[in-house]
Amino acid sequence: MSKIQQIDFNNKKTIIRADLNVPLKNGKITDNSRIVASLPTIQHVINNGSAVILMSHLGRPEKDLNEDGSIKKEKYSLAPVAKELKNLLNTTVLLSSDFGGIDSQTKASELKSGQVLLLENSRFEKGEGKGDEQLASQLAKLADIFINDAFGTAHRAHASTYKIASLFPQDKKAFGFLMDKELEEARKITENPKKPYTVILGGAKVSDKLQLIEKLVPKADHLLIGGGMAYTFIKAKGGQIGKSLCEEDKIDLVLGIIQKAEENNCSIHLPIDTIAADEFKDDANKEVVSTSEIPENLMGLDIGPKTIEKYRKIIAESVTIFWNGPMGVFEMSSFANGTIKVAEAIGNATSKGAYSLIGGGDSVAAVNKFQMGEMMSFLSTGGGAMLTLLEGTPLPAVEAMEK
Ligand code: AMP
Repeated sequence: MSKIQQIDFNNKKTIIRADLNVPLKNGKITDNSRIVASLPTIQHVINNGSAVILMSHLGRPEKDLNEDGSIKKEKYSLAPVAKELKNLLNTTVLLSSDFGGIDSQTKASELKSGQVLLLENSRFEKGEGKGDEQLASQLAKLADIFINDAFGTAHRAHASTYKIASLFPQDKKAFGFLMDKELEEARKITENPKKPYTVILGGAKVSDKLQLIEKLVPKADHLLIGGGMAYTFIKAKGGQIGKSLCEEDKIDLVLGIIQKAEENNCSIHLPIDTIAADEFKDDANKEVVSTSEIPENLMGLDIGPKTIEKYRKIIAESVTIFWNGPMGVFEMSSFANGTIKVAEAIGNATSKGAYSLIGGGDSVAAVNKFQMGEMMSFLSTGGGAMLTLLEGTPLPAVEAMEK
């Protein structure tokens, strides 16, 4: 595979897999950051004399079929994205009515250097998710060069991310700037992270993160646990957790992790205190209680002040920090404090020279909600892909480019 800077784009057609999966409300884009983040790669290709054919998915139309079982729906059309691209790039942006079909072929064949053709939602084609070879070959025939800049979908072996890559020779394919950056940042924590290295994990379920924890334990010095997943740990250690989230069937695995951590000199820290509430509501009655003595009628929805203090100190002494998953139900202001204070602590450590990577949808969403993105070293755009990478599982779309 080449570097994007080494490729000769002049008078060529380049097909770019981007992640333009923006949130929409009543057909309007509510946050265009994914489009903006894709611009440097698109612009580089245009500036170097090529025509651009863009591919992306949008939403999950396959989970919202029409009554007759068909998949195409106006609500999942990339039309608003085409409009936004036109505004941002100030060039002709066409939208095909299909993904790799006759209309894509006709429009691609007529495309001139400097112009952009956006293919309609990749998920309108059933073959996309199945990694269909025929579809990949139709897409590959539209262009001379393939660029993958969609880190967010790199953990999926789809036609437009994985199968297509093998159809281009090494000197005609490369990662885009966004993808390159994500992989470079991930290496800072996967390959010899500077120590002390602290991993902060939260979110709802421990089952989603077990493989990740197993992989991180041998590398990290501290593992700070928060969010709903903390209570399965507390229960495993014999605590009373009231109505808090718990995955009983994962208790043995959690005990195994605690032992593995001890063997690897990784300190696992659990919340000491909890903001416990009588209902899962912002205006529920709440009180601070010890995490291992939560009354039967209450559920833990955020970490408490003593825990915040303890986690703050550990974070302040860390040189490498990875954070995934909120410390509590941050969407409700009554239970957002733990997440805010941990984010602040990471931001402060970063301003004093630590490296911080925030990965995983909800922790990035929380950091953005509290406007602390600027305080962090790097916010990953691909939650699932970043976690897969950190779990030590190769990303199919990355591997396919190297073949
Ligand atoms: P995840 O997708 O696994 O990172 O989980 C994120 C979700 O976990 C967020 O929507 C939080 O509201 C939720 N969450 C965090 N802490 C708790 C808790 N103590 N109880 C229930 N849900 C929680």
